[in-house]
Amino acid sequence: MQHSKNIAIVGTGLVGSLLALHLRKKGHNITVFDRRPDVRTVEFSGRSINLAMSNRGWKALREAGIEEKVRELAIPLYQRAMHVNNSPVYFQKYGQEGEAIYSISRGVLNRKMIDLAEAAGAEFRFEEKVWDVDLAEAKLYTGESEKGNWQEYNFDLIFGADGAFSRVRHKMQRQSRFNYSQHFVDVGYKELRIAANADGSHKLDKNSFHIWPRGRFMLIAMPNLDGSFTCTLFLPFEGEHSFETISSEAKAEKFFSEFFPDIKDEIYNLTSDFFKNPTSALVTVKCFPWTYYDKIALVGDAAHAVVPFYGQGMNAGFEDISELSRLETEFGDDWEQIFANYQALRKPNADAIAELSHRNFLEMSSKTADQKFLLRKKIEKHFAEKHPESWLPVYSRVTFSESPYAEALELGDKQAAIMDKVMKLPGIEEKWNTAEVEQEILKLLSGS
Ligand SMILES: Cc1cc2nc3c(=O)[nH]c(=O)nc-3n(C[C@H](O)[C@H](O)[C@H](O)COP(=O)(O)OP(=O)(O)OC[C@H]3O[C@@H](n4cnc5c(N)ncnc54)[C@H](O)[C@@H]3O)c2cc1C
Repeated sequence: MQHSKNIAIVGTGLVGSLLALHLRKKGHNITVFDRRPDVRTVEFSGRSINLAMSNRGWKALREAGIEEKVRELAIPLYQRAMHVNNSPVYFQKYGQEGEAIYSISRGVLNRKMIDLAEAAGAEFRFEEKVWDVDLAEAKLYTGESEKGNWQEYNFDLIFGADGAFSRVRHKMQRQSRFNYSQHFVDVGYKELRIAANADGSHKLDKNSFHIWPRGRFMLIAMPNLDGSFTCTLFLPFEGEHSFETISSEAKAEKFFSEFFPDIKDEIYNLTSDFFKNPTSALVTVKCFPWTYYDKIALVGDAAHAVVPFYGQGMNAGFEDISELSRLETEFGDDWEQIFANYQALRKPNADAIAELSHRNFLEMSSKTADQKFLLRKKIEKHFAEKHPESWLPVYSRVTFSESPYAEALELGDKQAAIMDKVMKLPGIEEKWNTAEVEQEILKLLSGS
């Protein structure tokens, strides 16, 4: 039998609002705090930052009973559209027939999830920044400034869903034997926009994830429901082609003309937006433990921020909530057990997706335009189609399955070692789809 608890969630982002829904379904009293104003009342800026939702995210939404409502807001992307200079656009299917990742606006999704959590009975307290946490007593302190005069709240449990620079985690960091690391990559990002056609249709294929891979940098574009695309330019902060060297509108114009001539003229207000829109950094955060006895737990980016190159940060955060919910069903009122199992199960998977995400930047920006890499992918796909029981490509395992990320990393490494050998077979370019290569892979898989 479960007893209703008074629970605080710090952060009304995607993970915090999903957690609120799950905990309300279990009958707890939920208060969610955010330092920001209510996103539903802030006038929509017109800039839509979008995210890719995949299987793990959908599973958590299904369990919360909101999958269908969210699907109405999403556009399926069945393939990558590769824009390589001086070549026609070519398409690479993501997975099996019908498998897709889904483009969804972060703002639209967040508004919807807060609405649904509020309708389920969660209380939202916006513009209330949490400054301090008493970990042992599960007390929260909010207020207008760091200087004090804070409001004190007492809870049974507190969840830190307050993002990569979490205040709740900050307090845990002061405990003995708390491990913490943060790593910024030398690549930053900037969001730009491709407006819709006059009739509201999309300027590029709307069911594709568009990539312009250029080695050390790349541009991507994902569709929005209003016919526009959100583009993200990933570019080093310093170096020959970098945010530092593109220091004037003329230089931005020259850079886009040289590297993105096919899309440059479609980007809305390119040169002025380039300087108006912020340049943001990308961080990987790792820490442990994620919980403090039976009182405090970190979820989402607060526990494990990853770089966005696998499109899994939110999906991984949603999976945290799925797992917590399952453990609550298993252990009932025993929050010490729930938290102990939660962090033991999730931490290796969070580390694995951090590693996979880091590696994927290289794959997306440079290798996707490389002929050897494309052949390798073609062989893998061909073999996987013939032997689905023994070969699931690592991208599919991460994106279209719910098997643990740590398993995907381990099996992916084994498959990569096999493919390294296959690519060295003499004449592989000609015989890649023959029975001989198929037999060789089967032999390598069986370890003989
Ligand atoms: C460029 C980019 C692209 C991405 N693309 C994808 C993608 O395609 N797919 C995917 O799955 N993931 C993607 N991600 C990752 C995804 O955005 C994050 O993993 C996800 O938003 C994390 O959600 P969260 O709720 O844990 O944290 P956040 O969204 O950061 O929310 C934290 C909330 O806590 C509040 N808060 C912070 N401090 C306090 C405080 N002291 N008191 C009160 N409130 C506080 C904040 O105001 C905020 O509302 C991407 C990330 C980036 C940067």
